[in-house]
Amino acid sequence: MKEFELIKHFFREQAVKRKDVVLGIGDDCALLLPPERQHIAVTTDTLVAGVHFPLQTEARAIGHKSVAVSLSDLGAMGAEPTWISLALTIPEVDEAWLSEFCAGVFELCEFYNVQLVGGDTTQGPLSITVTAQGLTPFDKHISRSGAKAGDWVYVTGELGDAALALKLLQGKVVVDDVYKAQMLTKLNYPKPKVLVGQSLREYASSAIDLSDGLISDLRHICQASNVGANIVLDDLPISPTLNDTLGKENAIELALTGGDDYELLFTVSEDNKVGMETALTHAGTKVSCIGQLNGSDKITTTMDNKPVQISANGYEHFTKKNV
Ligand code: ADP
Ligand code: MG
Repeated sequence: MKEFELIKHFFREQAVKRKDVVLGIGDDCALLLPPERQHIAVTTDTLVAGVHFPLQTEARAIGHKSVAVSLSDLGAMGAEPTWISLALTIPEVDEAWLSEFCAGVFELCEFYNVQLVGGDTTQGPLSITVTAQGLTPFDKHISRSGAKAGDWVYVTGELGDAALALKLLQGKVVVDDVYKAQMLTKLNYPKPKVLVGQSLREYASSAIDLSDGLISDLRHICQASNVGANIVLDDLPISPTLNDTLGKENAIELALTGGDDYELLFTVSEDNKVGMETALTHAGTKVSCIGQLNGSDKITTTMDNKPVQISANGYEHFTKKNV
């Protein structure tokens, strides 16, 4: 199959047809018609085989994750996803692999009414770059820089399960069979917190999605907002699976440093606390208050009301190995 046939066969036909796409796949550029008085939020992420996902990852999960990580960024800004482009580098044309990969891509696109409007297809070591675009009402976006001392720190969902799944695949831990499938789903099919992000527009002073680990991502908010934070380790939402598998102390460490959770970390002022908790709980989203911002320039942690040291940093690409 040649490049043009491949694009036509796998990418051109899709269920989502948005009215604001004047021209989709097939010309030199796509043409989009954004509504007035909205910001267009734009984000790009690359997933490299063997770096961002294990080589043996199934194709559908790779497709899903490629889109999910970008939609997660849009969610963290409070944006509504609209369009994506896909730059795909594949070692060879494997039609069965491509079908599964596309199933993963389009499942998420259909769920969020996102249209694939273009991309590029090249040959080389497997790597996927997705650029996603979305809309936020004028000046209603959530940034990393809006947090203030005194604001409360929240996370959605549970932390550390994706990192545990990675350890499981690497043979570093043994997980009870009943938990295995559930763990691997958390790693391979992360659910981007898109609707949660949109609900937070009214309440959050800042937000970030958790891709590199809680401490590392919280540091981005603290640096952008010029605040410090104290995290109450007793209040971290840790799944019973993680707790049972690693024991309390290691579970906490993984919850603080493990990547790939794709939950949202956000801050809320005292005045907005009750409103936010009511809105999100009614929408069926689990949120946990895990600490508070302060006027220092540090991130500290406490357990049983006593300060504890953390050595942990979260996953940082260029510090661990040069890629
Ligand atoms: P050009 O050489 O003008 O950049 P291409 O031959 O790369 O065009 O692509 C032809 C059309 O197919 C373009 O509209 C491009 O956006 C689209 N396209 C190519 N690869 C992909 C892909 N992986 N996913 C979606 N659209 C793609
Ligand atoms: Mg091209």
